[in-house]
Amino acid sequence: MNYQTPRGTYDILPEEIAAWHDAEEKIRRITELYRYREIRTPYFEDTKVFKRENDSSDMVNKEMYTFAMGQESYTLRPEGTAGVIRAFDQHKLYGAMELPARFWYLGAMFRHERPQKGRQRQFTQFGIENIGAKSPELDAETIALGYDIVKAMDISSVKVLINTLGDDESRAAYREALKQHFAPYLSELCGDCQRRYEQNPLRILDCKVDHDKDCMKTAPKLSEYLNEESRAYFDQVLRCLDELGIPYEIDERLVRGLDYYTHTVFEVVSTRPDSGAQATVFAGGRYDHFVSYYGGPDLSGIGFAIGMERLIALAKEEGHAFKEEPACAAYVIGLGQVGSTVLKTVQDLRRAGIVAEGNMVPRSLKAQFKSADRSGAKFTVIIGEDEVRNGTCNVKLPDRSQVSVSLRELPAYIKEQGGNNE
Ligand code: ATP
Ligand code: MG
Repeated sequence: MNYQTPRGTYDILPEEIAAWHDAEEKIRRITELYRYREIRTPYFEDTKVFKRENDSSDMVNKEMYTFAMGQESYTLRPEGTAGVIRAFDQHKLYGAMELPARFWYLGAMFRHERPQKGRQRQFTQFGIENIGAKSPELDAETIALGYDIVKAMDISSVKVLINTLGDDESRAAYREALKQHFAPYLSELCGDCQRRYEQNPLRILDCKVDHDKDCMKTAPKLSEYLNEESRAYFDQVLRCLDELGIPYEIDERLVRGLDYYTHTVFEVVSTRPDSGAQATVFAGGRYDHFVSYYGGPDLSGIGFAIGMERLIALAKEEGHAFKEEPACAAYVIGLGQVGSTVLKTVQDLRRAGIVAEGNMVPRSLKAQFKSADRSGAKFTVIIGEDEVRNGTCNVKLPDRSQVSVSLRELPAYIKEQGGNNE
């Protein structure tokens, strides 16, 4: 019998959870500052929400967990954007919300890929979508939000890679140029690239198999096919990043998969030498015609997704001091038949906002003191049968001295002495 997590999944044990809470808390704070609002969509959707016509990405074609239930086909979400836009359209939020509408999400995603460092089959993404307006300033603001999160985790060895895919016209011209360029080499390219040639030749540039072939290096550059409007748009994005002091590097090979991407695309990658192929912390871009795909109006949007596991791992490597969970402030010990008073005392402390634990099973005094010690509590409260009769208790203070305090005043006393965890 093998009761273990499936390959590519993992448990987050209590001792590791502080790092997650710390990252999540910082993210919540930053999204608040930027006036984003949380949205929670289902962990599975109708398969066609993810499997869009003519999508050439590996994620959609090879990595999805799809299952049938009766007549229906469902898929565990491999990414967050599709569900958010589906919800935006389904609930007609374009009519109900001020545009651009700003959403964030955090949760598990599922992709069937080969597990390795920084790559799991169930992983967690934090992402944002900014839907309903289009400007270079919004693009730069979106990158700034992600960058703020990375900075809040004390990660400094990262760089922003940025590129533009231009507008529909520029991209159509480039697509043709790529097709012409790759036509004579088609038989040398991998099977996936042969499919990409038909579906979305831009994706060929993103291929991990054919990456080093000569015909890749001599491929035409998109920048040569940008029309004036697209070039001006990109220049303004870069100007905004300069203004904000966000360092970036233009990477003409950065294409990103989605057929709907237009204009700005970006990735934030770790520059640590040990990060290897899983160096991308977050990635995103602007998309057009995506909102109308699910039945809404033809609005533009921009978003990104951060891989939380990679963010946390990187923060650890960079020495970020994760905020610790609150320690135990008071531990209540009982001597004799005083169980209910111990319980009542612990509850009174908790209701006053003091993190407290009490001994709830018959045990020797020595064993109870040991537990009090292990809990790290600053105060040990000792209750015996005499104390119950008098309505008092003994409190052992951090300097090891003991005082008698009335049970009614115990919470106030402990707060006064600095045992307040609130
Ligand atoms: P890659 O090229 O690494 O496969 P991707 O283009 O598939 O990345 P996106 O779909 O853009 O990745 O997802 C955004 C982020 O989510 C990535 O930058 C990464 O941090 C994280 N991510 C993606 N896939 C995984 C995975 N299998 N395990 C852990 N994190 C992942
Ligand atoms: Mg991938």
